[in-house]
Amino acid sequence: MEASRHISVAIDGPSGAGKSTLARAAAGQLNLIYVDTGAIYRTAALHLLRRGLEPGDAAAASLLPEIGIAIAHDGGGLQRMILNGEDVTGLIRTQEVSMAASAMSAHPAVRAFLLEMQRDMAKKHSVIMDGRDIGTVVLPDADVKIFLTAGSEARARRRWLELCQRGTPRDFDQLLRETRERDENDMNRAAAPLRPAADAVTLDTTEISFEESLARVIELIRGRTGL
Ligand code: C5P
Repeated sequence: MEASRHISVAIDGPSGAGKSTLARAAAGQLNLIYVDTGAIYRTAALHLLRRGLEPGDAAAASLLPEIGIAIAHDGGGLQRMILNGEDVTGLIRTQEVSMAASAMSAHPAVRAFLLEMQRDMAKKHSVIMDGRDIGTVVLPDADVKIFLTAGSEARARRRWLELCQRGTPRDFDQLLRETRERDENDMNRAAAPLRPAADAVTLDTTEISFEESLARVIELIRGRTGL
């Protein structure tokens, strides 16, 4: 392959659909770099929370110049997020940061600020990138576009399980409400709303196992890229 011709795979969908687990596993099998764009939004949101700002606040945009984000990949392929020199990978997965990232990401100025960083990753590497607007806005020419979805109860249950396993259990009904609230924010914002690209393949994982979903994702990527 020519150095300039990198492969790009876009995986979009609502929170809890299994995007990151599937994308990471597929990237490992196909030797692609996995880019979790939600982590970039979360890192920016963490900065705003630390500065005491409501992330939905219109003033959020004025703090963007303070935010220096770098992405590093460790030996196991795990994406580490560096905020102004500090490794914040372990701090951005709380429910507070989830809700803040969702509110903050509705600002067009925030999206524009984070766009180039995402495109730059795809210029330099062959990537599987997951997010909400990868196939529609960030990489409209991606070789493969997958819209991964699942019912809100199934997604909230997966999040509940993840938090239990992490030792920070949360009330299921509350998580379900928050899952729906994030869907609402992400799908109805004016700037880059969550929706499948016209040329995306939709994969609903409500009823299928992780292994089946992974096999389907790999088959789609292989079929379209010859990997
Ligand atoms: O994917 P994750 O749940 O980590 O993303 C956190 C929040 O960041 C999402 O709820 C969404 O509002 C925002 N986001 C986005 N566009 C992306 C990735 C994430 O708006 N490409």
